[in-house]
Amino acid sequence: MKTIPAIEALTNDLTAIRRDIHRHPEIAFEEHRTASLVANKLRDWGLDVTEGIAGTGVVGSLSKGRGNRAIGLRADLDALRIQEANSFAHKSVNDGKMHACGHDGHTTMLLGAARHLAEHGNFEGTVHFIFQPSEENEGGGRAMVEAGLFDQFPVEAVYGMHNIPGMAVGTFAIRPGPMMAAFDMFDVLITGRGGHAASPHLTVDPITVGTKVVEGFQSIVSRILDTQEPAVLSVTQFHGGDAFNVIPNEVQISGCTRSFSPRTQDRLEASMRGILSGVCAAYGATSEFTYDRRYPPTINSANEAEIAGQVAVQVVGAKQVNLSPRPAMGSEDFAFMLQEKPGSYIWIGNGDGEGSCMVHNPGYDFNDEILPIGVTYWVQMAETILAPVSS
Ligand SMILES: [Zn+2]
Ligand SMILES: [Zn+2]
Repeated sequence: MKTIPAIEALTNDLTAIRRDIHRHPEIAFEEHRTASLVANKLRDWGLDVTEGIAGTGVVGSLSKGRGNRAIGLRADLDALRIQEANSFAHKSVNDGKMHACGHDGHTTMLLGAARHLAEHGNFEGTVHFIFQPSEENEGGGRAMVEAGLFDQFPVEAVYGMHNIPGMAVGTFAIRPGPMMAAFDMFDVLITGRGGHAASPHLTVDPITVGTKVVEGFQSIVSRILDTQEPAVLSVTQFHGGDAFNVIPNEVQISGCTRSFSPRTQDRLEASMRGILSGVCAAYGATSEFTYDRRYPPTINSANEAEIAGQVAVQVVGAKQVNLSPRPAMGSEDFAFMLQEKPGSYIWIGNGDGEGSCMVHNPGYDFNDEILPIGVTYWVQMAETILAPVSS
């Protein structure tokens, strides 16, 4: 491990910041305290700070030397609607809200990098430190892009990082191409004709129709999609009826899909639509269908994934960096930034010890041991890409 000593020396300060953010979690677009904390620290360290991008987004800009190249390093600010189950001193004081995905740690690592680069950075050009709101649900990454993030802060590439429980401390994983899946949501409304449960022949039973629709949906991945194209279709809600002897008028079905290409998204949507209308027609029911493309797939560009992999190897050694991990079926709204700019997204191990909780679990906590590793990675990335050119 080659963490930078001056960064190791910041570990206590960074841990205090991380735990302060953890105690005060804020959800999508409500990250006012967190955004102010970030902006104030960046200002204290001498960066140019722009606040209020897409609501609570913050960008700190740091320029050195005469170079006119620029890169973006990105972290996320938001927490989740989860009641924390931990009992340690820095547990959430905001009822029903929790940093259960480690964005408190991501924000702190990027702050640490800003501080170190401001004080000791050896680079020429500009680093834009991007702190985005609302990664979890509402697409704060998209909102920042739509608010003109890269017009206001032009960069040649943008880089992201996420902690992964179950991966050992001091490890990274990254690959070119797909890292995380696209995420789409669907809603189905099936309308039949309600009536007495003893006389189903006088009704059109939407519950029976709905079960056939769900069954049909569950054959799309196995029977219709390309077998070499990973995809998931999960029905997660099925609502209908409120009495034991009444066939209801309608049922509502919802869920989500995960996939890696627009072609697969098109095929999923068209197949669901076809099965729904065909099954409903067969039984005399009618239907409504909405398919909402929420997050695109997170696709690392080849060159930037290679750079990030090399930087990770410099920090923790080649044996500790997996350069061909399997893509994850989860999703990430950093994908919107990667649609605009070349860049890459890396996973950093949060630890694999006993009891290490997966993200989004009420017992999860970001591992402060990895703060200096992540900060060193960011610093080396800026200093590698923007290395001073001797004249
Ligand atoms: Zn999350
Ligand atoms: Zn997350």
